[in-house]
Amino acid sequence: MSNEYSMEDLVSLCKRRGFIFPASEIYGGINGFWDYGPMGTELKNNLRDAWWHDMVHCPPMGPDGEPLSIVGIDSSIIQNPKVWEASGHVGGFNDPMVDCRESKARYRADHLFCLGVKGDTSGQIYAYIENDDDSLASAQKKLEKYVKRTLSSEEIDTCALTELSVEELAITVGPDTKTVGTLTEPRQFSLMFDTTVGATGGDENKAYLRPETAQGIFLNFMNVVDTMRVKVPFGIAQIGKAFRNEVTPRNFIFRSREFEQMELEWFCHEDDAQQWYEFWCNYRKEWWQKMGLTTENLQMRQHDSDELAHYAKEGCGTFDIEYKFPFTAPGYGELEGVAHRGNYDLSRHTEFSGKKINYFDQQKNERYTPHVIEPSAGLSRGTLALLCEAYTPDDRPSKVFMKFNPRIAPIKAAIFPLVNKNGMPEIATKLHEEIRKKHVVQYDAKQSIGKRYARMDEAGTPYCFVIDGDTLEDNTITVRDRDTASQERINIDQAVAYLDDKLSSA
Ligand code: ATP
Repeated sequence: MSNEYSMEDLVSLCKRRGFIFPASEIYGGINGFWDYGPMGTELKNNLRDAWWHDMVHCPPMGPDGEPLSIVGIDSSIIQNPKVWEASGHVGGFNDPMVDCRESKARYRADHLFCLGVKGDTSGQIYAYIENDDDSLASAQKKLEKYVKRTLSSEEIDTCALTELSVEELAITVGPDTKTVGTLTEPRQFSLMFDTTVGATGGDENKAYLRPETAQGIFLNFMNVVDTMRVKVPFGIAQIGKAFRNEVTPRNFIFRSREFEQMELEWFCHEDDAQQWYEFWCNYRKEWWQKMGLTTENLQMRQHDSDELAHYAKEGCGTFDIEYKFPFTAPGYGELEGVAHRGNYDLSRHTEFSGKKINYFDQQKNERYTPHVIEPSAGLSRGTLALLCEAYTPDDRPSKVFMKFNPRIAPIKAAIFPLVNKNGMPEIATKLHEEIRKKHVVQYDAKQSIGKRYARMDEAGTPYCFVIDGDTLEDNTITVRDRDTASQERINIDQAVAYLDDKLSSA
């Protein structure tokens, strides 16, 4: 982000330029669900394909200089419900939440922060502030705003931000009310969507939409070992939809109820797990940088011990790769988690299914249950990070352009005849037909050239090729660069090679 802008600006560009629309918009929408338009679909697919390419088809070199071995799968969204008992999701996968009796708003208990009297948490409580995304810094900022609005300077002097204790909740005020006692006790809230399989209905036919793609990988571990001649250490990757009935979906596509994940389960020997954990933490951060996220907007954060998920291996834990989204700034929000899951999942599936799930190392003559390092990234959240990073306010006529890395830009080049006559459209159409065989390009002959540039700037198209009067004379065309708005002339016969070159070096 080169300049300040608001989320409203970004959401409005996403709507205006066909990136993202609210789902069921003509019926008033449905909270937590989004549709991707033509530009958003291309952008998301490009991020998805880059991940698949860099993780499955062309994975990084390992610490020993040898290429890693990773295969991909695509498992079912609905599985036998026992899967979710084994994984710990039924019973464990829910957030304690509280309702405000007055405003009817619902909050995650772990997202509420308490403003109390300094040094005396049992004393008077002024307010609870809701704060998504676990950042103390942004809670502090919201609190300061609240304090300035509602408290006298004497009261301000005695206040401090304290962490919420669950016992205190019953006597508290909600963030948007003033009466004490408006919040209910925290209740467990299952995040899994359920459905019924078959025509007869009933509880015995209840099944769940997967809340993560990871379990489909563990279920297929033996199938892959038996059919693919893989040797530990190796990885299984999957990209797909996941569903969570989030208590408070918010911040555009950051926290939605249907989203996509890109997950790798890296199976290794317990003795090597720590080394692999460090390897994946480093590689995954570098990868996001390669996609165009700048170092200053990315940070790695080790989970506190009380945040650890039910599967995380004690002592090793989870690293979050976090991005400074406009709504979390100056704090950060999670983009990807790299977790050391130990052998929790494979052992649990062995226990619950009664089937042996393990690995035999022929060279060492050793049978064991591999340990797992899991880099788990959000494809939808990643798409949002790319949109946030690309949004660049500018003094050009469109006032903004989207500075996507050309590798993930939805359209790679636009082809314009300067005017829609004098033989120019024919040459432009021919060029379009040639380039589109290799790259996603768009032909546009309508409106003034300035308006056409502005559309492409907002779509984040890195290059525009213009066919003009000189083309008819000397076979050259203008190439206009999105970021600098500078222009150069090249021979029309070099257009494909020009684009190949620019995209391959991106
Ligand atoms: P959070 O703390 O934000 O709820 P999480 O720690 O529960 O996330 P994981 O279970 O580790 O998330 O899921 C891996 C990734 O999936 C996250 O890093 C995020 O990018 C993505 N993700 C998780 N929940 C959502 C959601 N509701 N909407 C969009 N993306 C999500």
